[in-house]
Amino acid sequence: MQNNKPNRKNPRKSSYGTSRRSILKKSLKQEQVVFSTPIPDDPIVAIIGGGMSGLICALNLEKRGIRSTVFDTGIHGLGGRLGTRVIDPQPLVFDHAAQYFTVSDSRFAELVDEWMEKGLVREWQGVIGELEAGGCFLPVPPSSPRYIGTNGMRPLADSILSQTHMVNIVRPCWISRLDAFNGMWHLSENGKSRGQFDAIVIAHNGKCANRLLATSGLPLIARRMKSLELSSIWALLAAFEDPLPIPSTVTTNPFEGAFVKGVDALSWMANNTQKLFPSQSVGPHCWTFFSTAAYGKKNKVPQENVPNATAEKVTTGMLEGVEIALGLPKGSLPRPIYTRVQLWGAALPTNTPGVPCIFDPQGRAGICGDWLLGSSVEASALSGMSLANHIADYLQSGGTRPDEFTAGLNNEFQPVTGYDIGQFPGSEFTESTEQTTDTLTCEV
Ligand SMILES: Cc1cc2nc3c(=O)[nH]c(=O)nc-3n(C[C@H](O)[C@H](O)[C@H](O)COP(=O)(O)OP(=O)(O)OC[C@H]3O[C@@H](n4cnc5c(N)ncnc54)[C@H](O)[C@@H]3O)c2cc1C
Repeated sequence: MQNNKPNRKNPRKSSYGTSRRSILKKSLKQEQVVFSTPIPDDPIVAIIGGGMSGLICALNLEKRGIRSTVFDTGIHGLGGRLGTRVIDPQPLVFDHAAQYFTVSDSRFAELVDEWMEKGLVREWQGVIGELEAGGCFLPVPPSSPRYIGTNGMRPLADSILSQTHMVNIVRPCWISRLDAFNGMWHLSENGKSRGQFDAIVIAHNGKCANRLLATSGLPLIARRMKSLELSSIWALLAAFEDPLPIPSTVTTNPFEGAFVKGVDALSWMANNTQKLFPSQSVGPHCWTFFSTAAYGKKNKVPQENVPNATAEKVTTGMLEGVEIALGLPKGSLPRPIYTRVQLWGAALPTNTPGVPCIFDPQGRAGICGDWLLGSSVEASALSGMSLANHIADYLQSGGTRPDEFTAGLNNEFQPVTGYDIGQFPGSEFTESTEQTTDTLTCEV
């Protein structure tokens, strides 16, 4: 019988055919690229990743008069973890990662105000709270607004760059190689050239980024990325013919979103139909359920190739979790008319260097992303803004004083606090949650 267990002679291979250990070794051994060529008058930056951080980076580079190209793997649209799935023909609509976001920083507030004016986002007025296993729900009044994409998160992402003139978007495109020669970064996708650039931005993380950086000539950047730890979360999208039997304790309105406590398989549930289409009175109810990070870890498989048996097991396990959370008798949850399960293998950062951005001026390369400041939509936007301004300052300095522009290459990582689905900065909800869970009281 073939022995598939990883051992020294036969180390476990990643999905790219390279063992994790060999990727790490390569990254540490590689020689640092040092650019000494003058920076041209009209430089162009490549941004690899079209999630919130990459998009905001491009937007802010344009504000500083700098051209960029955003490369993103998204087949259906931009946004990364700002994902919305639309299932035809009904259609069923689900935000399948970020559910809502909060605002604590004035720079992000300014941007969100612009989106509000354009109708791209609006406040989520629905009841949100904490749901204890057994159906005890405690609403938490918002201490600051909760924002959602008006038509979902992905349409917001797709609109962020719609009025730009100096940003080129290439999608779907998976940048698989970075090579530095003749004073430029040369990008390619499986052997096909994707252009030459004066500086690069890595606006994604996880296995993909580790692999890309392993042979790039950027050991300082690669080392930072490798220190990042990420959780895994299962998302279950389920549509029900009728409203779910939500306990109406404390509030007269049924909740639309709940952080679930005390259920292994469930950390969050939200009625996306009520959230996105509050005036819709007919049609199926689309719910997004997220597992806990612990359940994600326990049931982890390659996300691009989820075995059917695992998909079935997780679907059943999470639906049972919904019953437990709502305090319903086993087997009494109405049968969904549609389900789809998906693993976010690199869901959320669990540690952070706590810096707005990382920049290696010798290699003319930077990193932005949620994980640099925490784990939220706001953190990713702030990181994108920060890196754009940093790169603009560097490029406009002519590149002659590189040492002045080193950023974020040495800070220690600290654990990230918050919910399994991220942080909600500016919302007292987040701060108070950890202290109040033990003392929740519930009118039944
Ligand atoms: C399940 C879940 C629920 C969440 N809920 C919330 C919430 O309610 N509120 C909140 O504030 N935050 C939430 N978050 C976190 C939030 O979604 C993220 O913090 C944020 O969207 C991250 O943006 P980013 O730009 O840093 O990265 P990403 O969104 O991951 O963007 C990276 C992009 O790069 C692309 N990419 C990767 N490799 C390559 C390559 N080689 N070439 C080209 N493109 C590439 C990816 O496909 C992706 O589109 C949630 C996250 C998850 C997973």
